[in-house]
Amino acid sequence: MESQCPICDLEQADESDVVFRDELWAAEIVPGYDVPGWFFLRARRHADRITGLSEGEQETFGRRAGDLVAAVTHATGAEATYMLMFGEAYPHFHVLITARTADVPSDRRSGDILKLRAEHADPERARALVPAVRNAYAHRTSGSLVADVLSVEGG
Ligand SMILES: [Zn+2]
Repeated sequence: MESQCPICDLEQADESDVVFRDELWAAEIVPGYDVPGWFFLRARRHADRITGLSEGEQETFGRRAGDLVAAVTHATGAEATYMLMFGEAYPHFHVLITARTADVPSDRRSGDILKLRAEHADPERARALVPAVRNAYAHRTSGSLVADVLSVEGG
């Protein structure tokens, strides 16, 4: 059955599009936003905007967002990784995380990065990045990415 919410519909996303899912949160690449290095982080239940999050969702959002931004940065080598939130057209709480890699020209940085949605959509390359981000996320959430970074910095 089709819901009225395209963010809820991401529950049916193909496994190859999914970075992670846990009880409360999911991250995927999303048709229409399939620029390489772009991911949605969303509440799994239909929570309306950031103000509609449950206590548990509020408490865990910062950790999930931080871990996903770190994983995207690690996997793409981005110089900066952005997190954007609107919540108007699609109120179901989600943020768009975008890698801003070195090849993004200066007039496509900060808010102008959204112009890449039309200009740089590449579903195949976007999907090809998923395993690396998935691994970086898994490493980070198991603590070993931190250990890797420390050993590189210390070594
Ligand atoms: Zn929804």
